[in-house]
Amino acid sequence: MKITVAKDAGYCFGVRDAVNMAYDSAEEFGNVYMLGDIVHNEQVVEDLENVGTKVVKTLDDVPKDSPILFRAHGTVNELWEEAKSKKMNIIDATCPLVHEIHHEVKRLAEDGRQIIIIGDHGHDEVVAIANQVENSMIISSTLEASKLRKMKKVGVVSQSTQMIENVQGIMNILMEKVFDLHFVNTICYPTKRNHEQIKTLAMVNDVMIIIGSFTSANSKRLAELSSERNRNSYQVTCAEDLNVDWFKNKNSVGISAGASTPDYLIDEVKLRIQEYTRK
Ligand code: SF4
Repeated sequence: MKITVAKDAGYCFGVRDAVNMAYDSAEEFGNVYMLGDIVHNEQVVEDLENVGTKVVKTLDDVPKDSPILFRAHGTVNELWEEAKSKKMNIIDATCPLVHEIHHEVKRLAEDGRQIIIIGDHGHDEVVAIANQVENSMIISSTLEASKLRKMKKVGVVSQSTQMIENVQGIMNILMEKVFDLHFVNTICYPTKRNHEQIKTLAMVNDVMIIIGSFTSANSKRLAELSSERNRNSYQVTCAEDLNVDWFKNKNSVGISAGASTPDYLIDEVKLRIQEYTRK
């Protein structure tokens, strides 16, 4: 059985840095607090809990002098201000590419444009982008875009992990509705690379395995990309979810994983497939 793991499967550098910062802070201070899970992956959250990280709902839940880590996908301004006014020890794990999106969206708003963010409603990254400017709109699908009224001057950015096809579909509709349209493509390059590699792998392998939590929109998107090109595509959270029957009479497997999937889960899945197909 030929097994190919996508070159950039798993953690993007933004998530990898944030997780490492959480481990380092837990080691240095004995604990570190976060508002919500650091990544959408139950296994990573559990591993981090075991070394002393704690998830809380509000800044008031953070004990005095304990560090608070702001996660990779960005934090709303009110929380930054609250933490600063309380003189908290802030560990900023915001991905530099997310900072860039915040910068771009502010620039577009300063140019007098109505802001549209292409992204998932309620997703932390999208909420933090929207928070940078006033009166932004979030559009997640072509259906939502088709319901928009005609507009004069619009600036568009996208959530970093969007699929290019969804963004293109929405932009096609906006082109018909907006007179002066400025789009900044803020899909980040680790996402672009990961998506491209999955598309290629799905075309040339008999079976595709996508590893990622079902709570991760990013991982579900990868599974979708794969399924559209290969009907033997399966999303799993770990090696235990694999089914030996998927690999019967097959010669090749492609593996990829969402940006919140740690390397060891990818290795375990690869090993298990090797065991299945050796028999
Ligand atoms: S998905 Fe992209 S923008 Fe988001 S944390 Fe990873 S590298 Fe940064």
